[in-house]
Amino acid sequence: MTAPEERPIEGFEYWTQNVLRRRILARMIHPDVFDRAMTGVTYLPEVLEKQSNQKEFLLPIGDYLGMTVSEDRVRTGRQMVRKHRDLLNQVETTFGVEPEVVAAIWGLETAFGVTRGTIHVLSALATLAYKGQRAAFFEDELANALRIIQARHVRAPEMVGSWAGAMGHGQFMPSSFLDFAVDFDGDGRKDIWGRDPTDALASIANYLSKHGWRKGQPWGLEVKLPEGFDFGGTGLDHSLRTANWSAMGVTAFDGSPLPDYGNGSILLPAGANGVALLVLRNFLVTMRYNRAESYAIAIGHLSDRIGGDRAFQGGWPDAGETLNKTEIAEVQILLTALGFDPKGVDGLRGPDTVRAVRAYQQASGLIAAGFMERLLLDRLRAEKGG
Ligand code: CA
Repeated sequence: MTAPEERPIEGFEYWTQNVLRRRILARMIHPDVFDRAMTGVTYLPEVLEKQSNQKEFLLPIGDYLGMTVSEDRVRTGRQMVRKHRDLLNQVETTFGVEPEVVAAIWGLETAFGVTRGTIHVLSALATLAYKGQRAAFFEDELANALRIIQARHVRAPEMVGSWAGAMGHGQFMPSSFLDFAVDFDGDGRKDIWGRDPTDALASIANYLSKHGWRKGQPWGLEVKLPEGFDFGGTGLDHSLRTANWSAMGVTAFDGSPLPDYGNGSILLPAGANGVALLVLRNFLVTMRYNRAESYAIAIGHLSDRIGGDRAFQGGWPDAGETLNKTEIAEVQILLTALGFDPKGVDGLRGPDTVRAVRAYQQASGLIAAGFMERLLLDRLRAEKGG
């Protein structure tokens, strides 16, 4: 069998009409629906280039938050919450998710509906199913997209979105649409694509609600760690009751005691000298929307800022010189050689890599904060060489 990346571009049309068609029809898509919807499908090489460039894994957290939780976005977010106050209140009553949280996801995903995406989703998914990484996943999503068209929620030419097939105001993948989209205005269609955000905002809230969002509880909060705090106990792998963190001397940033928020983890997204966060259940729910910790921090912080809270008080220490993708890949190779498995070499700042860095730092007697910049690479090179 030919690996996806070895497939020639010229074979795309043949594959779509013969191989893919047969497999999709076997999944209860009507032949007429397939043939009509796939008429305009073309191979999109730019989609493959974008696949390996996801910014929340590439930027240091301070830079990422500067971009995602900009003053401009906070201001627009507050305006949007005012403008859509009635709708967001109804959504909160129905799904138990606060207006600021729905607005934060809307703001980060599509700048409040401005950048909903213009790529023909069936073309993007077919390209990724033919030749991308995770081809089987995208073939599933293509079948799901055709299911949505078959159910007449949208017509194929109007099914537009991102390079990865994420659609509408909240950038739902087709599978998420099938599981979580709702017809909130009651017109018989679940419309997440159009200008009117009613169905899309309700769908975002439904998504969070179905994944266990707890209304009235924060996603997390900025905390102060005591002198001598054991950094080995940080990260999502270590979850303790708030009372246990309190007993270890962790307080709110202003020094006041932590309220009882149930279980939580301490995150140091920029290392031991940067912002320290206690993240709670709703943080994990947000990660179901996008599995990057930095994404969930941005959503949490943006929702707080839209709600009127101030910016994080702890700073983002100078990251030193930031590592590029090739250098992060080198870190991954060196970690693997030293027995700390980052689960693959992809040059991305993903959770498995951060975990492996933290394990290495802990084993080496360094401050185990998972912080991955120039000094770390220098040290790994020296260790491997020596
Ligand atoms: Ca509707």
